[in-house]
Amino acid sequence: MSEICSFCGAATDVDLTCQDRFDEFPALEFTNPAYGKVHLLTVSCFMIQHQRYSDPALIWMQEKLSDVLEKGVSPGEIRVQMSSDVDQGKRDWKIERQPDERKLPHINWSITIADVYPHKDDPVSYCAWVERWARATLEELSY
Ligand SMILES: [Zn+2]
Repeated sequence: MSEICSFCGAATDVDLTCQDRFDEFPALEFTNPAYGKVHLLTVSCFMIQHQRYSDPALIWMQEKLSDVLEKGVSPGEIRVQMSSDVDQGKRDWKIERQPDERKLPHINWSITIADVYPHKDDPVSYCAWVERWARATLEELSY
């Protein structure tokens, strides 16, 4: 039976939820550098569209997405910033959204993980779709 994800609006199935799709990506991204270069984008888009980030994390990630997509900063550089800015010991905020945080509005995302998923077997088209997904997410993000 097909349903609609209440967060991102993707068509889902009991056998293929957004989380199921997402869970397949790291296996590709960690074993094949052709996929790995978009790992940061994949994780942040999924987290943003499924309202998993806390408010401070959303602000931080929005800035980093814009650095990568609009200013050409490499994801490797972001990873370095992440380990210094977002290091568990140094920050006083949580990455994961907390139950007492404000309720986020629903956004009608134009591209979701369901659009990227069918391209997972071809690294070139997969990366192109992840980037498209990230651009749309950054543009439509209005929490
Ligand atoms: Zn979803």
